[in-house]
Amino acid sequence: MNTPPKTFRIKSFGCQMNVYDGERIFELLNENGLTAAAEGADADLVVLNTCHIREKAADKAYSDVGRLRREDGSRPMVALAGCVAQAEGAEAKARSPMIDIVVGPQAYHRLPEMVAQASRGARPVDTDMPAISKFDALPKRRRANPSAFLTIQEGCDKFCTYCVVPYTRGAEISRPRSDIIAEAQALVESGAREIVLLGQNVNAWEHEKLEFADLIRTIAGIDGLERIRYTTSHPVNMSDELIVAHAEVGKLMPFLHLPVQSGSNRILKAMNRSHTVETYLAIIDKMRAARPDIALSGDFIVGFPGETEEDFEATLQVVDAVGYASAYSFKYSARPGTPAATMEDQIPREIMDDRLQRLQDRINTHQLAFNRSKVGLETQILIERGGRHPGQMIGRSPWLQSVHLETSANPGDLIDVTLVSAGPNSMTGAARQKKAA
Ligand code: SAM
Ligand code: SF4
Repeated sequence: MNTPPKTFRIKSFGCQMNVYDGERIFELLNENGLTAAAEGADADLVVLNTCHIREKAADKAYSDVGRLRREDGSRPMVALAGCVAQAEGAEAKARSPMIDIVVGPQAYHRLPEMVAQASRGARPVDTDMPAISKFDALPKRRRANPSAFLTIQEGCDKFCTYCVVPYTRGAEISRPRSDIIAEAQALVESGAREIVLLGQNVNAWEHEKLEFADLIRTIAGIDGLERIRYTTSHPVNMSDELIVAHAEVGKLMPFLHLPVQSGSNRILKAMNRSHTVETYLAIIDKMRAARPDIALSGDFIVGFPGETEEDFEATLQVVDAVGYASAYSFKYSARPGTPAATMEDQIPREIMDDRLQRLQDRINTHQLAFNRSKVGLETQILIERGGRHPGQMIGRSPWLQSVHLETSANPGDLIDVTLVSAGPNSMTGAARQKKAA
């Protein structure tokens, strides 16, 4: 028997979809009478919302669990949530006696009930992936950051040969349009000025013959909402309608995160990416024709099995051809159960380290060039939070750059600025007037 918890803490790791799930779990526990533990204070319940995308994720989660033991030997109730929970299932209880609850990403709406069971001494596990949406069972949104996440699509049917997502998040499902609009409206009523639509393949969203571009146009009609972003997109789902929306929908920000992974068609085929370098670059060309100032971002994997120096050089060429404003790059990580994990020609770590360094240097060069190209420009930023110094605030430009400036404006204000200087990771701005009308 455990005493029923009164306070909780959630630690989210990994992607933005996990951050979103963490927010929903927060609201759910709040609605069920638990309160968030104060900063630095002990919590009665700790939810570890884990990520499984790269190596050692499970080991890291177990060592995080171990660290929750307090100095006096007592411990909080522990819920292992997220993709490690999904992958490990009941095994997690055997590996760590400290884990009271194991709950997968499609089952966390059941958490209050599972907490009650754990309080009675049970160790419940739920890693089902029910067809009925967990979203129906979650409370209405009542808290929102100026820039708020909204998951509209989950899971993946694409089965890239290196990736665990189709196994941990399940099949691709799109949330119904009316639910998304209701949640977007609730977020705006709670203070969001920007909504970031999320999905593993967000642009694959479809519902009752409507496609993603239609959804964006509907959401753009919400009064009080100023900006729309979305991530992550897959090249094969980049429709012409979505590209046209970038030219026509003023609230849709000029930013596209479109992972390519590799610049070699041979490697893309082995990755089962179902696009080529040429089809990827053709999308970029079309997008630039529709929205010339679009900022481009991507994901890259170096050291996929069989990747030669020539294949890697081809990746650097794509980086130069696109001129990314930002990009994420990863060393290939063999994930048990995925086809690539047993492919021949696994690449030695030293080669991966070297390639990652060279790739990141090249990306940084383009990132700095992109930031410098915006110096002197008059634009608007959405203030998101306070900066390190008194009077300093941090906001985002339309191109998702972090902009630091001195202003009396508050989080949620959209203000006119001139971008005055550029660094590799952020810009400095000067407010042109206190608040936009
Ligand atoms: N669905 C998105 C797509 O296909 O572009 C990406 C989702 S995935 C959660 C985010 C990124 O993690 C991928 O784009 C890929 O670059 C990286 N990733 C996934 N599996 C990986 C692995 N086994 N090793 C290294 N990076 C990986
Ligand atoms: Fe993973 Fe590929 Fe699906 Fe993206 S598209 S989530 S990389 S399987």
